[in-house]
Amino acid sequence: MYDYCVIGGGIVGVATAHRLLDRHPGASLVLVEKAAEPGTHQTGHNSGVIHSGIYYEPGSLKARLCVAGAEWTKKFAAAHDIPFRECGKLLVATDAAEHARMLALYERSVTNGVEVELLDAAELRRREPRITGVGALFVAATGIIDYGKVTRALAQRVRDAGGQIVLGAEVTGISETDTEVIVSGPAGQWRARNLVVCAGLQADRMARIAGLEVDFRIVPFRGEYYQLPSHRKDLVSTLIYPIPDPELPFLGVHLSPTIDGELTVGPNAVLGLAREGYRKGSVNLRDAREILGFPGFHKVARANVRTGLEEMRNSLFKRGYLAECRRYCPELTVSDLLPREAGIRAQAVLRDGTLVHDFLIERTPRSVHVLNAPSPAATSALPIADHIVANLDD
Ligand SMILES: Cc1cc2nc3c(=O)[nH]c(=O)nc-3n(C[C@H](O)[C@H](O)[C@H](O)COP(=O)(O)OP(=O)(O)OC[C@H]3O[C@@H](n4cnc5c(N)ncnc54)[C@H](O)[C@@H]3O)c2cc1C
Repeated sequence: MYDYCVIGGGIVGVATAHRLLDRHPGASLVLVEKAAEPGTHQTGHNSGVIHSGIYYEPGSLKARLCVAGAEWTKKFAAAHDIPFRECGKLLVATDAAEHARMLALYERSVTNGVEVELLDAAELRRREPRITGVGALFVAATGIIDYGKVTRALAQRVRDAGGQIVLGAEVTGISETDTEVIVSGPAGQWRARNLVVCAGLQADRMARIAGLEVDFRIVPFRGEYYQLPSHRKDLVSTLIYPIPDPELPFLGVHLSPTIDGELTVGPNAVLGLAREGYRKGSVNLRDAREILGFPGFHKVARANVRTGLEEMRNSLFKRGYLAECRRYCPELTVSDLLPREAGIRAQAVLRDGTLVHDFLIERTPRSVHVLNAPSPAATSALPIADHIVANLDD
């Protein structure tokens, strides 16, 4: 019997395995992942931004763990020779309404303890001459990194500490007794004293398999990207974000330099019908049936009809997508938008249609389930892991 079993080899699962072995040297641990490599799903399909923590509801898990996670991610990367760059980020207001929201965001970032500069239009133009707006916030601490590399380095730390990582093994059964948890699937069975489930896009299914009564579903929101051609790579030197809509958990289409030297545009947020289908128009019948049969999905769709239709139109027609970016970067043209693989966000939606904004973590006597770990969970993975370890040790 193992001391710990972790399901899911995304950044949250692998960071948790790492912190468990760090805090309990000599403990036995197995991590079970259905894909052939760690970091295959959300962890390997994101914007690669080390978020600073400005956006989140003060006092929320996101606000606390993101600020700590940004520092910790940079320290971990420096210690393991993983390239990262503190390029900073500009949040650009393009009209008076956005300017008012920008000032509210400034107050929130001060409350969250993140250093932010307020810029007027002239200063914005001086710093990023090809970006236009009526004002901006500059966050110096925001950075870029490859979270796939971070996850692989964490996985190596787990193996070095004696942990076992089993790949290509889908978990289909979880049963918990007073003394142990039994995890099983076609590839084998694992018995452990404690279990942590970090299943991302499958979090609700894993919780139901384990017998938890969950009142939400994971709804997949596709995040589609484009990539700019090489002659555009120096268009901006910082990350350029719009001012987000506070009602939505997504940050809006942004211009992001990547640590590999590309410049990406995206992601949008389109309701999807396949949790792990990355191609446009992917439909998985089981996923589609579950999503369409869930009342929360219809309530979200109804409450956001306009935004939803706009996102869908912009997903189908490049010109609509382009219009989003041209609000702050007017020189971009349709021919600048080259294809790039999409990502899929796991977003928990309650039965009444509420989108769960914060991280959601629940426990049973012997297990911890990470039920909602959307952005900035990659940035926050190490403190989320410590939070889980503390929860289990409690
Ligand atoms: C488009 C997009 C952009 C984003 N941008 C950012 C960003 O810039 N910065 C940031 O901090 N965050 C960002 N995020 C969010 C971040 O990527 C996620 O919050 C984070 O990767 C979640 O990690 P995870 O380990 O919970 O999930 P995942 O990486 O999805 O891992 C879950 C793992 O569980 C495995 N699994 C599921 N079911 C089973 C099963 N039955 N048996 C075995 N294994 C199973 C899966 O195969 C998967 O590997 C973004 C996300 C998306 C989609």
